[in-house]
Amino acid sequence: MTSLHTRKTRKIPIGSLFVGGDAPIAVQSMCATHTTDIDETLAQINLLEDKGADFIRIAVDSRKDVAALKELRPQTNANLVVDLQENYRLAKEVAPYVQKIRYNPGHLHHHERDKEVIEKVKFLVGVCKDNDCAMRIGVNFGSLDPNVKEEVEDPMDSALRSAFHHVEMVEGFDFHRFVVSLKSSDPLKVVEIYKKFAAQRPDIPLHLGVTEAGMLPEGEIKSRVAFEQLLAVGIGDTIRVSLTLPNSEKHKEIEIGHKIVEDVKAGRFRSVPEFIGKGLNVISCPSCSRVENGAFVELAQEVKKVTESLKDKDITIAVMGCRVNGPGETDHADLGLWCGPNHVNLKRGSEKIGAFAYDEVIPRLMQEIEALTKNA
Ligand code: SF4
Repeated sequence: MTSLHTRKTRKIPIGSLFVGGDAPIAVQSMCATHTTDIDETLAQINLLEDKGADFIRIAVDSRKDVAALKELRPQTNANLVVDLQENYRLAKEVAPYVQKIRYNPGHLHHHERDKEVIEKVKFLVGVCKDNDCAMRIGVNFGSLDPNVKEEVEDPMDSALRSAFHHVEMVEGFDFHRFVVSLKSSDPLKVVEIYKKFAAQRPDIPLHLGVTEAGMLPEGEIKSRVAFEQLLAVGIGDTIRVSLTLPNSEKHKEIEIGHKIVEDVKAGRFRSVPEFIGKGLNVISCPSCSRVENGAFVELAQEVKKVTESLKDKDITIAVMGCRVNGPGETDHADLGLWCGPNHVNLKRGSEKIGAFAYDEVIPRLMQEIEALTKNA
C-alpha cells in the first residue's frame, strides 16, 4: 500500500487492511476471468496480489459463481470483494467468503420490483453486519437509479442525490463501515462529483475510479487526470484504474495505480487535461467475468485501430462487454457497441441500429461514422 496525505475520513477495517483516515491508499483491481473457471481466476488473483493489489474484486451473478467462490476462498488469502449487480439477494451467500460487498444503487430495482429499496438496503446491511464485511455504495453514471433519474435530469445531480440517499439509508441502520464511489467515464466529471461529495461528507472514505477508461495509453491518461487532481487535495482512499486489457496483462491496472499514487506523492503530475473532451474518444469497459464473448477485448482494440485516422473528430464511441452496463453506458456515446454472446449491438446514441455478427460490425460501424462526420 502507498502512503499519502489523506483527509481525515473515518478509518474502516476491510479484511486485513484499513481504508480511510491515515491508512495508506489502497490499490485494487478486478478479475476479468470467468469466476467459475477456478484455475484461471486463482491465477489472476495471485498475479494481481503479486503486483501489489490490496483488494481484488470478482463478479458473482449466479449460484455457480457462489460455488466457485466457495472453492476459491481457501486457496487464497487475498482480500476479496464481490461485485453484486442485479441479484442483490446473493449477498447472503457470498458474504461469508469475502471482505467487502459492492452494490450499485442503480441495480437494486431490477429484482423484486414491489419491494421498497430501503428493505433491500436493510437486507444488505444486515448481511454485512452478520459476516464482518465492509460495503461499497458504488454509484455509476451509466446505470443511475431510474427513479432518481426521472426526478433529476442532470446526471451529476442524479448521481449525487442517489449516493446521499443510500448513505442516509445505510447510516440509518447504524452501519458506518462503507466507502462510496461515484464513477463516470468522463474524468473531469469524476473530479467534479468527488469534490462535491467530499465537501458535504468529508468523513466518508472514497473509492476513486474512471469507469470505462478504455485502452492504453488513453485509459491511463484519463485515470491520471482524475486521480492526480483528487489525490492532490486529499480526496481518495482507495483507487482502481480500469483498463481494457487482455487477461494476461490485467496486472497493469495495479502497476499503473501504484505509479499514479507514487507520482502524486512525489509531486510529479503527468496528466494532460487538455486531452480530455476533445477529438475522438473511445471508451471501453475493463471487462470482467460477465463479458459475454471473449472477442470483446479484440473488438475494442479493432475499434481503436480503425478509427485512428479520426483523432481530430469530436466523436465518442463506447465499446462494452455485456448487457449489465452496456445498454446504459452506450446511451451517452455518439456510437455504441455492446457485446452479446453471438452478436454485437450497435447504437447511435440511445437508438438501436441493430445486432451484427462480430465479423460484420466493424464495417457497419464505419458506415455510421462516415454518416456522422459528413453531417458534422
Ligand atoms: S460492461 Fe459488463 S463486462 Fe464490462 S466491466 Fe461492466 S459488467 Fe464487466
